[in-house]
Amino acid sequence: MKLEGIHHVTAITGDAQLNLDFYVGVLGLRLVKKTVNQDDPTVYHLFYADDNGSPGADLTFFEYPHAVRGVAGAGMVHRVDWRVAAPEALDFWEQRLADAGTATRRTDDRLVFADPEGLEHALGVSTVTDEPLQASAPDIPREHALCGFDGVHAYAVNPAASDHLLRDGLGFADVPGGAMEVRGEHRGGLYAYDPPPAAAPRPGAGTVHHVAFASPMDDHEAWRERVLAHGGRPTPVIDRFYFRSIYFREPSGVLFEIATIGPGFATDEPAEHLGEHLALPPFLEDRRSDIEPLLTPLHDPRARAV
Ligand code: ZN
Repeated sequence: MKLEGIHHVTAITGDAQLNLDFYVGVLGLRLVKKTVNQDDPTVYHLFYADDNGSPGADLTFFEYPHAVRGVAGAGMVHRVDWRVAAPEALDFWEQRLADAGTATRRTDDRLVFADPEGLEHALGVSTVTDEPLQASAPDIPREHALCGFDGVHAYAVNPAASDHLLRDGLGFADVPGGAMEVRGEHRGGLYAYDPPPAAAPRPGAGTVHHVAFASPMDDHEAWRERVLAHGGRPTPVIDRFYFRSIYFREPSGVLFEIATIGPGFATDEPAEHLGEHLALPPFLEDRRSDIEPLLTPLHDPRARAV
């Protein structure tokens, strides 16, 4: 039984339109689902991904309008690493981000930048043969498009505390460069710890809420048992409609989720029209007329461009 790398990363935004303009308009991702936070249906849950809405390329945001900027600290993911195909792509993105007014820096062969609310990302040339998960954008040449997640970095005071659950329980293994990899039959993802900054952590806009790892449908219950057997305290399985989930905090404090690969985003709208309308899970559908007016009206820059 193996986890198939990262399923999705979920973060917080205080401004859904600003967020959409950056992730779709600048980074070229596709908005594949516009729905609400199932635990708080008064706020958006936006899902960006490749063209097919694949696990492995799925960055999601809860919108808490006007949320104060957060500060990433111990027990939080602070950087999302993405794959690109070739070094030329880094040059392309350096220029494109500069044109968009986004500062970048080069470090360790990666191009590092932050979204408009301070969430840090890094692009690096892929060193694996996993399928590139790309979104089509009219102004981004295919060879330069993002290819899905490479991994995430989290801050931890004492990473060794997480060894038993991560290594013995979840199958994380060391790879060159200091990160741990979790790799399944089709896909892998990296998880790395960095020493935390002095500032106290504060969740808010521009911070990551949780990172989800991908489980084949049939293994999900067994993963829950595995987490329990290695000292974790997982939630019951929750049906998120597009996937099923368990959540638990790993010993370094980072909120983990294990989510199933499927049923996927095309379960309630056609694949070619993903994200165009507000999608509500069945248990919220009868509250649509109450929910819809509470949400920020959004204009998808990709819809405008096509
Ligand atoms: Zn999640």
